[in-house]
Amino acid sequence: MRVLLTGGAGYIGSHTALVLLEQGHQVVVLDDLSNSSRESVRRVEELTGQEIVFVQADLTDPHATRAGLDDIAFDAVIHFAGLKAVGESVEQPTRYYRVNLDSTLVLLDLMRERDVTRLVFSSSATVYGDPQTPLIAETHPVGVGLTNPYGWSKAMNEQIIRDAAAAWPALAAVNLRYFNPVGAHHSGRIGEDPSGIPNNLMPYVAQVAVGRRERLAVFGDDYPTVDGTGVRDYIHVMDLAEGHVAALTHAEPGVQAFNLGSGVGTSVLEAVRGFEEASGRAVPYAIHPRRAGDLATVVADPALAFERLGWRTTRSFTEACRDAWAWQSANPRGYAG
Ligand code: NAD
Ligand code: UDP
Repeated sequence: MRVLLTGGAGYIGSHTALVLLEQGHQVVVLDDLSNSSRESVRRVEELTGQEIVFVQADLTDPHATRAGLDDIAFDAVIHFAGLKAVGESVEQPTRYYRVNLDSTLVLLDLMRERDVTRLVFSSSATVYGDPQTPLIAETHPVGVGLTNPYGWSKAMNEQIIRDAAAAWPALAAVNLRYFNPVGAHHSGRIGEDPSGIPNNLMPYVAQVAVGRRERLAVFGDDYPTVDGTGVRDYIHVMDLAEGHVAALTHAEPGVQAFNLGSGVGTSVLEAVRGFEEASGRAVPYAIHPRRAGDLATVVADPALAFERLGWRTTRSFTEACRDAWAWQSANPRGYAG
């Protein structure tokens, strides 16, 4: 397949591009580089020895997108492009809704015009809100009591895609609800390169380990969990990338939704210890109050993806820490050097 990756220069997109190329597919990346670097795409080319067609365009701009993709054919799309910082979405709700919704609308119109029917969308476990069961299955209610515009934008995108499929029965779409992506390609050549202070736990921990930041703030130690700190389902980004290829291959007319998670919960303090062991570096931390809107435990029931896509995680959290350290130690300032 020739696959268009919107947002393909970003963290998850670059790893997915690599897996697609390694499995014999071709890749077109469309990205405005608002949260990424052209260098990630170059490194994927270097790792695979294959070329990627790169288009720099803002997907929310229908004219720029059409012009950029004018003479470029593709038969499937993975839609990663969007804004993803939960806290920022609370501060800038209209910007988040505009980017995260307009990009999908422009893309769906373009796909219909070109008669490209295969779509995989980057959704998130955040669409489930506060989990009502220890493990979250796809049957869990979606879009109930969400606490931020980022989460709502994901739930709304899923609805937009369902409505588009109702009006265009050939559309074969898959909404992938990611749990917590972590780690990097084992080469350490590509990885997560957040701009500014990382919002997410693992990139923050990695920056403490490499000496870029002094200490981790652990947000809350009074949750009803194994050690009082928040529990999440961390998934190696290479497992996640492989999940996209499985979803693309199994897409069928209509809309499906799958969790991409491991089914294993890890607390903040367990994550810190895991990273310390993998890196051989100390990760000093201090306990702080809970972060507003955080949940105690969010862990996937990953059974459906295995049943329908034949996909499940094969890499451990320890492996994710080791690979994240390979990336962070070789690129202490990310793609900037
Ligand atoms: P990322 O920021 O590294 O990648 C997103 C890419 O989209 C970036 O390269 C950015 O430059 C590009 N982009 C943003 N707006 C654009 C626009 N208007 N036009 C063209 N390109 C645009 O983020 P990521 O971690 O790789 O996440 C990819 C997707 O997965 C996002 O939709 C995100 O919401 C979703 N997701 C991420 C996580 C996570 O923890 N990383 C969890 C759940 C879901
Ligand atoms: N967390 C933390 N310190 C940080 C960032 C995150 O203690 O600097 C905790 C957070 O409270 C949560 C877990 O780590 O329990 C994962 O947070 P992250 O932001 O990575 O993911 P999400 O909240 O989206 O699941």
